Amino acid sequence: MYRQTLTQLAADLRARRVSSVELVRAFLARIEASQRDLNAFVTVTAEQALAQAEAADRALAAGRGGALEGVPFGHKDLFCTAGVRTTCGSRMLKQFISPYDATVVSRLKAAGAVMLGKLNMDEFAMGSSNETSYFGPVRNPWNRALVPGGSSGGSAAAVAARLLPAATATDTGGSIRQPAAFCGVTGIKPTYGRVSRYGMIAFASSLDQAGVIAASAEDAARVLREMAGFDPRDSTSVDAPVPDYLAELDQPLAGLKIGVLKEFFDTGLDAAYERCVREALAVFERLGASVREVSLPNIPLSVPVYYVVAPAECSSNLARYDGVRFGHRCAEAHDLEDLYKRSRSEGFGAEVKRRIMTGTYVLSAGYYDAYYLKAQRVRRLIAADFARAFGEVDLLMGPTTPTPAFELGAKVADPITMYLNDIYTIGANLAGLPAMSVPCGFAAGLPAGLQIIGPHFAEARLLNAAHRYQRETDWHLRIPEAYA
Ligand code: GLN
Repeated sequence: MYRQTLTQLAADLRARRVSSVELVRAFLARIEASQRDLNAFVTVTAEQALAQAEAADRALAAGRGGALEGVPFGHKDLFCTAGVRTTCGSRMLKQFISPYDATVVSRLKAAGAVMLGKLNMDEFAMGSSNETSYFGPVRNPWNRALVPGGSSGGSAAAVAARLLPAATATDTGGSIRQPAAFCGVTGIKPTYGRVSRYGMIAFASSLDQAGVIAASAEDAARVLREMAGFDPRDSTSVDAPVPDYLAELDQPLAGLKIGVLKEFFDTGLDAAYERCVREALAVFERLGASVREVSLPNIPLSVPVYYVVAPAECSSNLARYDGVRFGHRCAEAHDLEDLYKRSRSEGFGAEVKRRIMTGTYVLSAGYYDAYYLKAQRVRRLIAADFARAFGEVDLLMGPTTPTPAFELGAKVADPITMYLNDIYTIGANLAGLPAMSVPCGFAAGLPAGLQIIGPHFAEARLLNAAHRYQRETDWHLRIPEAYA
């Protein structure tokens, strides 16, 4: 039953062909069997999950329950969960137990999803390979010598190996789409403001957005429908009605105008990966869409802009970890400064420290105008490029990443090479746009991802296009041999 999509499992639960307890037991067994190899989870909540599954079965027996009643589920370990630790992949929060649930968590709970555990991730969501986690790297289920991508590597690996039908994830510069592409699963980062950030541990607040990783676009739509919507507790949450993403899934693509992102097919793109993406575009043409090239002249600046803006915001957000109020506290501090210094030195890993230092520098008096302000101006230009493109086309498409998954350890010593992994994903975050990655074939045996970007609040259009594509292809249904 682990091979079934979330949509099929939800239907089986509703029809009482399977119980939530059976499903939860089966997935827990798969999680346990794979944990040493994949390290996808930081915390497994078996007992709590079984109790929740029993309650779900009672609700289903009575003909009650939400849209995801009894469905096994997991949360990236930066969504606060009352009573269950939330580590953010950091020693700093190794023992942190939140007193409340994130809005995403409480909404999915209310919809009946059963949480099986918290998923491993790069420390404070900073990374593209899931190697910065204090809890050790996650491995790619397609080849365990490779990275799963980051920072939502645990979520992507777990769905790819069918340890869970779906999981939450977050995307600040590509952390849903890049690991989804590396692991051959479907991921959607909604429009900034579409999903509440309340209770989601902050990295870079103007970029962070929660979304879903699932096997298919249909599954992602089913989950997003429950997660999305206005939340008065998040000041950047947008008060706009949430369309029924599922009901909008079967629209024909005839007449759809697709722009192919010229700058994404530069010399850095792997040739076999490019073939997969071009073949996917041909499928859309067969479905009646028109495809033409579109240029976003400022998009090559997105990596430098992001690596000024994101560290600046993170240096401010992470100032709260001072050894006093949250997280790790050093032993026997002899004064306040010693407490701050040692708690932070011990609690944060190297990548987080690098970002805090960069961020503090670009915000400092004398450098603010040269770096931060300039980056914000270029950010506007990038957003304007996208706005212009969406005056001409309905959706933009291209590769999600320049290459398929790389080897563990290959890029850790060279942060700039690591940062360049996000070259195709960061633009959507800077402009606040919804974007997806959809499995579109295999490049030298490894999954490749087709990226789809839309105008603000066009999630339904993205999901529909992905769904129509997935009706024509079966890349999203492939399961790595070791977990098949
Ligand atoms: N890889 C990017 C970074 O390291 C994006 C991470 C993310 O989206 N959370 O910042």
